[in-house]
Amino acid sequence: MYPAPFRYHRAASVEAAIRQLSELGEGARALAGGQSLLVWMKMRFGDFTDLVDIGRISGLDTIEQDAAGVRIGALATHARIARSPLAKLLPIVGDCANGIADNQVRSRGTIGGSLASGDPACDWPVLLTTLDAKLHTQGPDGKRDLPVDGFVEDLYVTKLKPGELITGISFAMPARGSAGAYVGFKRCAPAYPTISVGVQLSLKDGQCEDIRIALGSAGLTTIHARAAEAELRGKTLTPASLARAADAAVDECDPVEDQRGSIAFKQSIIKVLVKRGIETARRRSQGETVEVSHEYY
Ligand SMILES: Cc1cc2nc3c(=O)[nH]c(=O)nc-3n(C[C@H](O)[C@H](O)[C@H](O)COP(=O)(O)OP(=O)(O)OC[C@H]3O[C@@H](n4cnc5c(N)ncnc54)[C@H](O)[C@@H]3O)c2cc1C
Repeated sequence: MYPAPFRYHRAASVEAAIRQLSELGEGARALAGGQSLLVWMKMRFGDFTDLVDIGRISGLDTIEQDAAGVRIGALATHARIARSPLAKLLPIVGDCANGIADNQVRSRGTIGGSLASGDPACDWPVLLTTLDAKLHTQGPDGKRDLPVDGFVEDLYVTKLKPGELITGISFAMPARGSAGAYVGFKRCAPAYPTISVGVQLSLKDGQCEDIRIALGSAGLTTIHARAAEAELRGKTLTPASLARAADAAVDECDPVEDQRGSIAFKQSIIKVLVKRGIETARRRSQGETVEVSHEYY
C-alpha cells in the first residue's frame, strides 16, 4: 500500500528540526532512516501529515570512544556501527549491529530511530539496556539525559515529549575483565528477532561478580531480567545456576503468540538464548574469541 499524502521538510540543524516539529504539531514526525516510519505509513498506522527529515543534520552520526566511555550520535546507522572500531573493541556491539536485518536496512536505519520507535523487537534498546546506557535528548524545553532502561513505557510509547529529538547515546566503557554477548534467533535476515538476549558480566575468583541481562521481543517493552541476574550475582556459573537464571528470565518475560511462534516456543528460545548469552560472555571474559550473531530457523 502507498502511504497517505504527506508534506516533506528538511531540517539543517537540531534546533531547526525541533522548531519545525513543534510548529507543525501532532501529525509531524522526525524522519531518520525511514526503515520503521515509512513501513508504518505504508500500513496506514497513524496520521502522519508532515515528515521533518533530520537525516542530513551534520555531526549526529559520530562514534567516539575513550577510556571513560562511548558516545554514539543518534544518526549513526547500524552499518556504520558494525564497521566501526567499537564493534571490534566490544564484540557485544558487533554481535548486535551485524545481526540487524539485511544490508539495505542496516545502511539506512539509525540507532536513534531504533530507540525512538519504541518497538520491543528492535535490537539496540536491548543491547543498550544491557550496557546500562543513557540517551541524550534535545527538545523545546531543553536537553535531557535519560536511562535507556525504562525509556520505552509501553508498546511504541516512549518518554519522548512532542518535538523532542534523541541526539545520542552514551555508556561507560565496561571494566577490564567484563565481557558481553548479544544473541538473537530469527526466521531470516530481513525479519525482526523472534527473541534476542544481551548479557554483560564480570567474574571474580570464579564467581559471577556482576551481571546484566536484557531481552527483546519477549514482551511489550525491552525486559531487564533482574530476577535472572539475582540468580547468578555472587554465585558460581554452573549448568544448574544457568538453568535457574533461564527459568527466572522466562518468568519475567511476557511474549505474545504471533507469526514468529507460540508463547511456549518463545519461552523455550528464551531459555536457550539466556544460557548461550551467559556462556558466550563468560568465555569472552576469560579471553576467548567467540563469534556469535543472530541465528536463523
Ligand atoms: C525489513 C526490515 C527488517 C528489520 N529488521 C530489524 C531487526 O532485525 N532488528 C532491528 O533492530 N530493527 C530492524 N528493523 C528496523 C530498523 O532497524 C529501523 O531502522 C529502526 O528501527 C528505525 O530507525 P530509522 O532510523 O529507520 O527510524 P525511522 O524509521 O526514520 O523513525 C522511526 C521512529 O523514530 C522517530 N525518530 C527517528 N529518529 C529519531 C530521533 N533521533 N529522535 C526522535 N525521534 C526519532 C521517528 O519520528 C519515527 O517515529 C527492520 C526494518 C525493516 C524494514
